[in-house]
Amino acid sequence: MPASERIRNDLRDILDPACVIDDPAVLARARRDTWVISVWRSLQRAPTPNPACVIRPTTTADVSTVLRYATRERIAVVPFGAGSGVCGAVLAPEHSIVVDLGTMRALKRIDETALLATVEPGLLGSEFEKALNEAGYSMGHFPQSIALSSVGGWVATRAAGQFSTKYGNIEDMLIAFEAVLPDGDVVRTRPVPRAATGQDLRHLFLGAEGTTGILTELTYQIHPLAASTEKAAIAFPSMSAGLESLRRVMRAGWRPAVLRLYDEIETGRSFAGAARDGESLLLVLTEGVSELTRVEIEGTIAIASACGGRHVGTEPVDSWLHHRNAVPGFEYFLDQGMVVDTIEVASTWNQIDRLYAGVLEGMRAVPGIMVASGHSSHSYATGTNIYFTFAGRPDRPEDLEGLYFRIWNAAMEATLAAGGTIAHHHGIGRVRREWLARELGSAYPLLAKIRHAMDPFGIMNPGALLPEPASNRS
Ligand SMILES: Cc1cc2nc3c(=O)[nH]c(=O)nc-3n(C[C@H](O)[C@H](O)[C@H](O)COP(=O)(O)OP(=O)(O)OC[C@H]3O[C@@H](n4cnc5c(N)ncnc54)[C@H](O)[C@@H]3O)c2cc1C
Repeated sequence: MPASERIRNDLRDILDPACVIDDPAVLARARRDTWVISVWRSLQRAPTPNPACVIRPTTTADVSTVLRYATRERIAVVPFGAGSGVCGAVLAPEHSIVVDLGTMRALKRIDETALLATVEPGLLGSEFEKALNEAGYSMGHFPQSIALSSVGGWVATRAAGQFSTKYGNIEDMLIAFEAVLPDGDVVRTRPVPRAATGQDLRHLFLGAEGTTGILTELTYQIHPLAASTEKAAIAFPSMSAGLESLRRVMRAGWRPAVLRLYDEIETGRSFAGAARDGESLLLVLTEGVSELTRVEIEGTIAIASACGGRHVGTEPVDSWLHHRNAVPGFEYFLDQGMVVDTIEVASTWNQIDRLYAGVLEGMRAVPGIMVASGHSSHSYATGTNIYFTFAGRPDRPEDLEGLYFRIWNAAMEATLAAGGTIAHHHGIGRVRREWLARELGSAYPLLAKIRHAMDPFGIMNPGALLPEPASNRS
């Protein structure tokens, strides 16, 4: 009997058979994420590995049953949230089991006193936020993909939202979790504000990209809806002047929810008319109690002015708020023979100018690149990220992947040369895997040991984050 058929039969024996799906359309949707190379290969009808089935669990016990079986039989398991990842973290191998968490999507409780919300992993971010808003709360986490991504996928990829400067990133919001380990055991942590009880076990799952187990419940911190909002847009003579302004705002202790600084190309592309040619535009949004938002916007504008910034009103912020989650899919560009992608990296303030200039220079030196630009969208007291966007057109369609990887190579090498980190919030997946050892240096073997200790047979999402164990390679 073919391996996939045997796996399906076994799983139908130990689960409700309705959870075990082998409909080709369901398999096609759940075997990959939104990595542009996977989208391209799928448009090209390139041969793709076929997972044995998609499991749609409804309980933690279902997930446990699947993982216990998979470990015993040494079958690869790929957790699937909503498939919005952009780094190739979901690419299900032949005869693997995809666990689609989309059927576990209950908002279990909101604790209004402790400011906590407990939710199952498959709920879409926008549905979670809507339910919180109806109760008078917000999570404060607004990835651009909020309507495309799951609350469990956020943890597994270490996501960051557009309001992160005030509310933090996903690691600041996750208070407790339940997860199923590769051997089927279920672990739960308790929601406490802080604990000095050994290592912080949340970090075994934050950014693990499904390699350490499957998250089945998350408890997140929530916030009462903000009473007041203030906005400002400020034009700077250069990206460097804008970055210096961000540094000083963060150093002063202001924490506007939104601090987004666009370089001259992105300013011209998205905010034509709001700034002069060659200027970089900063969008500021501060929210909370009115006494705070007023002084915070004034303090931010004062620092920006001292750095050469020119206050140009609030309309660009309103326009951004309106359009912020509308982006064309990769297919739109691929159909026109172009490849477009984004690369988010970060560094400390003392090397941010070098990183910004070095990555752009490296990408622009690649023959076939059409445009490369960047903005900063997540700032800290110690540094900031730069979110680069590039578009390239190969001479021949067959070279699209080659061009894509040459541009990525240039960006990653320039980031490492400038002392930055290769990933701020999209994760590693497959696209960044080859640079992870250099990023982590002497700490890299520790990551490999942790993974091996938690998943000795390497069944969990093989090929994502770390290279596949030799025994799994075909
Ligand atoms: C248009 C667009 C805009 C985006 N904007 C942002 C942004 O602003 N900020 C940002 O951070 N990201 C952004 N992303 C990237 C993406 O949305 C995030 O990486 C998101 O967190 C992925 O969630 P998902 O549910 O879609 O996960 P998936 O793509 O399904 O999976 C991602 C990884 O998580 C693992 N995983 C998923 N669920 C679980 C689980 N329950 N337990 C264990 N492992 C699991 C998978 O195996 C995989 O390794 C964007 C993507 C797109 C397409």
